[in-house]
Amino acid sequence: MFTRRYFLAACFFGLVAACSKTGSLPAATATPAGTATISKGPIRLYAADRKEYIMSEKVIKTPEEWRRQLTAEQYHVTREQGTEQAFTGETWNNHEKGIYRCVNCGNDLYSSEHKYESGTGWPSFWQPVAAENIATREDNSLFSRRTEVLCSRCDAHLGHVFNDGPKPTGLRYCMNSAAMKFIKAP
Ligand SMILES: [Zn+2]
Repeated sequence: MFTRRYFLAACFFGLVAACSKTGSLPAATATPAGTATISKGPIRLYAADRKEYIMSEKVIKTPEEWRRQLTAEQYHVTREQGTEQAFTGETWNNHEKGIYRCVNCGNDLYSSEHKYESGTGWPSFWQPVAAENIATREDNSLFSRRTEVLCSRCDAHLGHVFNDGPKPTGLRYCMNSAAMKFIKAP
């Protein structure tokens, strides 16, 4: 009996190990500056239209309040750590100049200046508008180690960051279109 149990356990862990190897891309080893923790108090943010830093309060709402404000897909992606299907979002293939804001709180997240063609079907950037405007945390779901990217103002899930991006940062911020609202440059 012991041998049989041991054998089953070995099979299980072997399966887990196999899944891990074939899972997603490795987690980013490079830590973007200033994004290690999720702040609770007033936070410093970069305002892209004013081209300066401002102080802002965190935006905290109940799930019901977020549901009223967002579409079902926006809610699923940003509040339930969902991922939209590749090549289906509004902005994966957008080449217009402008700013990508958090669809939940309006925080400036990314600029078209830092967007590039990753070929993944998700809008991809090599840096945020400012390190302060996003937060990151480890995500060990789906048998893989990834680095989750969140809005630093309202903690909305935005996507993940990987270390296979282009120069000069080498980072790939793989975002969900549904988590962002594109504001075309005037
Ligand atoms: Zn936000």
